[in-house]
Amino acid sequence: MEKADLTIEHGIVYTMDQNQAVIDDGAIVITGNRIVDIGKTEEIKQKFSANKCIDASDKVILPGFVNAHNHQYSNIGKHNPTFEGGLYEFCNRLYQSLEDMGEEEYYYASMNGAINLVKSGCTTNIDSVEMNADQCAPGFLQAYDELGMRGIYSRTISDVNWVAVGLPGAEVTYLEDADEAAQSTVELINTWTGHDRLSVWPGLSYPPSSSDKLVENVSEICKKTSTGLAIHMSETSFDEDYWKQEKGASHFQYYDRNFDILENHVLAAHCCWVDEEDMRIMKQTGVHVAHCAWSNMHGAGTAPIFRFLEEGINVCLGTDDIWDVIVNMNFTLLAHNMEGDGWSILDAYKVLEMATINGARALGLEKEIGSLEVGKKADIVLFDMNQTNVVPYRNSIHRLIVEFGTSNNIHTVIIDGKVVLENREVLTVDESRVIRDYKASVARLIGY
Ligand SMILES: [Zn+2]
Repeated sequence: MEKADLTIEHGIVYTMDQNQAVIDDGAIVITGNRIVDIGKTEEIKQKFSANKCIDASDKVILPGFVNAHNHQYSNIGKHNPTFEGGLYEFCNRLYQSLEDMGEEEYYYASMNGAINLVKSGCTTNIDSVEMNADQCAPGFLQAYDELGMRGIYSRTISDVNWVAVGLPGAEVTYLEDADEAAQSTVELINTWTGHDRLSVWPGLSYPPSSSDKLVENVSEICKKTSTGLAIHMSETSFDEDYWKQEKGASHFQYYDRNFDILENHVLAAHCCWVDEEDMRIMKQTGVHVAHCAWSNMHGAGTAPIFRFLEEGINVCLGTDDIWDVIVNMNFTLLAHNMEGDGWSILDAYKVLEMATINGARALGLEKEIGSLEVGKKADIVLFDMNQTNVVPYRNSIHRLIVEFGTSNNIHTVIIDGKVVLENREVLTVDESRVIRDYKASVARLIGY
């Protein structure tokens, strides 16, 4: 008998691999932080004896979900009562209330948000931090380290005042010097290079807030440090009007004509207002789209997901300003039916791919996570099918998960081989303490 650290047995294994393999009464074997075997439970039991065994009867075993666009600071912004005035007035109110946010506040916001994400089955999250990014970085990285989550901190830079570009309702922004911010970003990337679960990317904020010089600097950072780039593209109609009026081209076309930034590994959030030429550029340069259905439905626009899929553009999912990936999957599945006059909703399996392997690809991590395969890192979710919202189950289990599932079905979450959530209880940190301390931290920052 071979020794192993952990086996998960008697589950329905949704590998999300290239063959779309599903194994009934399947098992997974983990040693250290890696998957060392997958197969039928009876065969696995004859080969391995493990220190711990989890019974996954009535559960689907899935790769951990990847959240490809998020802002942990918006967690504090949940107090912002309304979207009145549109996106930029909303951001304006939010940013004003967060002016004094630093390491401590960001630690608690990150921890609170990350716990909520884990409880919805998310094992990897990228966080775009657009204000006080150097001060907040240690808080984010410490929280993710303690919780045991996989994460990327996108240290995001702005150097052009929103007022100057005429954003409706925008009065404040967090401006940095393009050269100093670039230097500081490289230092942060280097500090975290080599960490098992955590890394740092550069980021560009709301695009009109980036000077040409900053775009060049950030492109250089990506090349020098081999990191990806997180960016917002074509989120609102105002965005595209701005680029066309001020620069004479759409955002994608302006960048394509004048810079080499799209040649990097670019993860573009939203992409609601792109045209056919933009899509040609996206396909040619290999841009990955973080589709944010929940967020876009507040009024930003509708991303042409069917066209992206037809073109072979990689589409993954981002929650933007919520911390529940299953809610976002529900919205993704159904939102696009409103585009047409028929019953052509997205295929649920496709949505599951967006939340797993496509997300891993968008973060440059597809060799390590995103599917359940021997040799990959053990980021694994157990989805409980023995609950009222999904019984009876037999066929089309992916549809039950994506259309009828909620985070209450997430039973167990393993990240990097370590059990972080078991029977919906967080094992690595004290959740009630986090809620208490987070509330106190927010009260100190915004007054309640
Ligand atoms: Zn965003």
